[in-house]
Amino acid sequence: MKYDPKSSNAEEFINDEEIRESLEYAAKNKNNIDLIDSILEKARIGKGLTHREAIVLLDCEIEEKNQEIYRLANKIKQDYYGNRIVMFAPLYLSNYCVNGCLYCPYHLKNKHIPRIKLTQEQIRNEVIALQDMGHKRLAIEAGEDPVNNPIDYIIESIKTIYSIKHKNGAIRRVNVNIAATTHENYKKLKDAEIGTYILFQETYNKESYERLHPTGPKHNYSYHTEAMDRAMEAGIDDVGCGVLFGLELYRYEFVGILMHAEHLEAKFGVGPHTISVPRVRRADDIDPDEFDNGIDDETFAKIVACIRIAVPYTGMIVSTRESQKCRERLLHLGVSQISGGSKTSVGGYAEPVPEDEDSAQFDVSDRRTLDEVVKWLMELGYIPSFCTACYREGRTGDRFMALCKAGQIQNCCHPNALMTLKEYLEDYASPETRAIGEKLIIDELENIPKEKVREIARQHIMDIHGGKRDFRF
Ligand code: SF4
Ligand code: SF4
Repeated sequence: MKYDPKSSNAEEFINDEEIRESLEYAAKNKNNIDLIDSILEKARIGKGLTHREAIVLLDCEIEEKNQEIYRLANKIKQDYYGNRIVMFAPLYLSNYCVNGCLYCPYHLKNKHIPRIKLTQEQIRNEVIALQDMGHKRLAIEAGEDPVNNPIDYIIESIKTIYSIKHKNGAIRRVNVNIAATTHENYKKLKDAEIGTYILFQETYNKESYERLHPTGPKHNYSYHTEAMDRAMEAGIDDVGCGVLFGLELYRYEFVGILMHAEHLEAKFGVGPHTISVPRVRRADDIDPDEFDNGIDDETFAKIVACIRIAVPYTGMIVSTRESQKCRERLLHLGVSQISGGSKTSVGGYAEPVPEDEDSAQFDVSDRRTLDEVVKWLMELGYIPSFCTACYREGRTGDRFMALCKAGQIQNCCHPNALMTLKEYLEDYASPETRAIGEKLIIDELENIPKEKVREIARQHIMDIHGGKRDFRF
């Protein structure tokens, strides 16, 4: 197998030999100050790095250069995403699953975890509860089970979610995290107007992948790894990649995920919309200590910083798997999207799930409510954003990238963030959160560069106070 980023063959675009050579190259050069300086110089232009350059930065052992890496990640984050953080929540539809993933409690052999599949009526109730919290953007999740969770069930659920308009609430973007599937099913998802199609690779190392997925359709490494290609060929142009850190050596995964991004860019002209960085967590019959590749917080922070530098246009997501303290650090280094008030069991938003019926996929570290997370972000100087404008304006895939590359984010994302935050404050916030938010909006309006945009945003914010909703640039 030869490395070829444009190939359609998983083992050519995620090429084991190329990964191993890159790892060797980085190990040899981790103290090569001239090379590290030249990579940092290139990174400063903000056009990203190759996987080989990025792994040298990740391996770098020179403390002074590492501090430069962190500063640069923070600067790129500021330049591209400003101080906005996009909010979302996961919604688990069903935990029936025919796969045997060793790190997930939904694996088929787990006979004691309660199996639940939400009816459309239950989905309605969950969505109303999520809207009442203030969420506008969901990521739906379901195990792989062609009998219990066929694609028609997923499509019907998406339609249900979009149809619910409760008080001033609405779910305006449904991202979908379901198993690798066929071209035809991706077309169905596209027609159902999903936002991002998310699929975690879990691990890019084929041998480990096959060992960790001993049974079920997910065992097929190529079918899984080539899923994003099928999704994009079927017309979905926002895809979200991710690896589960802790399963394999992190350096291997780091190069793998950047190669995947390079492949999508080379083949489709647009890289992944987002990259997620979950770490293995404790859950039901899963003990993270059984996986001996766990990474500490320091390494994790460096991975996030180096991804930020390598793919500046790609959003980065961190979930409530991580603690408040850890999330705070990662926000500075490049994370642009976080979940808040999440439940990782099937059901649980509308009514709390009794402990003996708990079906959580993983333990949540950050258990704060959405209002607490929103307040915390604002106190840290961030603008929590409930914006879904691009997707609804048809600015997906390369059109979204064009917006980023033209440097129009500040005239677009920034006012959208303020307007959607204003909606949140009017409809859902506690008095304390509202007071902090109102002041923040007044201050941040001044940071919209174009005067005309600033004036329109100001007017819309007054209109939102007057009862109108759903403005966007
Ligand atoms: S990770 Fe996904 S595919 Fe694997 S057992 Fe869990 S729900 Fe099923
Ligand atoms: S304007 Fe587009 S890119 Fe900016 S926050 Fe909204 S959806 Fe995201």
